[in-house]
Amino acid sequence: MTLYDYDLFVIGAGSGGVRAARMASGLGVKVAIAEERYLGGTCVNVGCVPKKLFVYASQFKDHFKAATGFGWTADKPVFNWTTLIANKNQEIERLHGIYENLLQKAGVSIINGRAKVLDAHTVAVDGISYSAERLLIATGGWPSVPDIPGREHIVTSNEMFFLDQLPSRIIIVGGGYIAVEFASIVHGLGVNTTLCHRGHKLLRGFDEDIRDFLAHEMTKKSINILFNTDIEAIESTGDCFAARLIDGSKISTDLVMYATGRIPNSTGFGLEQLGVELDKEGAIKVNSDYQTNVPSIYALGDVTDRVNLTPVAIAEGMALVNKLYGKQPKPVDYDNIPTAVFSQPPIGTVGLTEAQARKKYRDIAIYLTSFTPMKSTLSGSDEKTLMKMIVVGSTDRVVGMHMAGPDAPEIIQGMAVAIRAGATKAIFDSTIGIHPTAAEEFVTLREAVS
Ligand code: FAD
Ligand code: NDP
Repeated sequence: MTLYDYDLFVIGAGSGGVRAARMASGLGVKVAIAEERYLGGTCVNVGCVPKKLFVYASQFKDHFKAATGFGWTADKPVFNWTTLIANKNQEIERLHGIYENLLQKAGVSIINGRAKVLDAHTVAVDGISYSAERLLIATGGWPSVPDIPGREHIVTSNEMFFLDQLPSRIIIVGGGYIAVEFASIVHGLGVNTTLCHRGHKLLRGFDEDIRDFLAHEMTKKSINILFNTDIEAIESTGDCFAARLIDGSKISTDLVMYATGRIPNSTGFGLEQLGVELDKEGAIKVNSDYQTNVPSIYALGDVTDRVNLTPVAIAEGMALVNKLYGKQPKPVDYDNIPTAVFSQPPIGTVGLTEAQARKKYRDIAIYLTSFTPMKSTLSGSDEKTLMKMIVVGSTDRVVGMHMAGPDAPEIIQGMAVAIRAGATKAIFDSTIGIHPTAAEEFVTLREAVS
């Protein structure tokens, strides 16, 4: 006889929570999942999925322009934001249905509403209490916006997916993933775009060559990038806004979007009262088995603020369920996690940056190439592609690959497999290329640059 209503109660039906719930249920575990906002979480509703749909939408301007060089003539293309939002919403609705179906088919009880943790084994949703042997917190994160005068005028990525209309001018604050992706999106849709970043380069943590290259290419596309600055205050000036920068200058704009990071959703639903340990940024502290200091409570995904990517939250969900209920534990390997930034040009990267490799190894060789993609020859576009490979001299192992240019995320996904398999430069060199592609450059890099 079981003591609890459920074996596992998951809070948060995002990337990590849904995967853990489905998989556990498939292994015969009695599972419930509570969701307060939307099935699929951030990724499906206000993250990866709608973002990528927006990226596609924003690329057509360049496609239409390029087409003329290939002999096409067409009427002046016109973009309609309302149609894009309506079609995007319809697609997200479809995904909600799929998620609901998958969970139900797996036998997971879906409980709609905000969950509150009452004690180490009890959760309440809408006044109804549920007991469970284990609780899994997969509550994700939320945009973090600094407290500046005029904060009430700001939007974040959450609102960008539901704007009634596109502004003519926008200021985007931040220099991370979301800032550069949205700057590229709205610029592609015809918005006069200013990116305002407190640092001296975009994308902290990425390879320096990629950081420089992206800023250069975005500037070439006439995105106005302001480095080493910040907004001090935002004032409403009737039908638009004035952003006052730290040097006292003002920029007039129709919308200000902040993309200044995300904070873990770890407070306000009972964890503090229970003494679940958080770090100073509010992330739930877990051990290597995703267990918090309260032994029946586990946490994974963005709420633990480690590698905040959907495939990582999913992998963590599977690893946890395997550990708790499976026959063979399969821990997540956090090395060589590939990642992409869907800026324009997009970036794909896996392994060490040059700076990290130089710190770790004494003898590294850098292979670097920059070229005009074949499509640009007839299209007349001046966009370039950058590819970089980092090799350890003593072992010939490839330890880092970085690319900025069309299809970089698609290409680097394949390269990540090679890196995980321990491929050497000699293996790359002996691989026959696929011609004519950009990817073949990675198997024809002959001369190290340093
Ligand atoms: P989430 O997906 O955030 O899910 C948490 C869920 O918990 C939410 O649905 C929330 O409503 C629910 N919840 C919270 N508190 C409670 C409560 N008390 N009771 C009930 N429910 C609760 N990653 C990529 O890999 N590729 C990308 O291209 C990418 N693009 C992104 C673009 C944007 C704009 C953003 C914001 C993120 C993007 N990410 C991307 C990151 C990715 O979305 C997250 O890493 C991923 O969603 C984390 O999954 P999770 O399960 O930890 O949390
Ligand atoms: P990031 O942490 O990537 O970037 C935040 C940016 O805001 C940094 O440039 C940071 O500057 C700047 N910043 C932070 N605080 C302030 C402040 N108070 N004032 C001014 N600037 C500030 O966060 P994002 O919000 O862009 O994205 C959150 C996470 O979501 C990402 O890290 C990633 O894990 C995930 N994501 C993944 C995507 C993908 O896979 N393609 C796409 C979108 C999001 P500094 O560098 O100086 O700290």
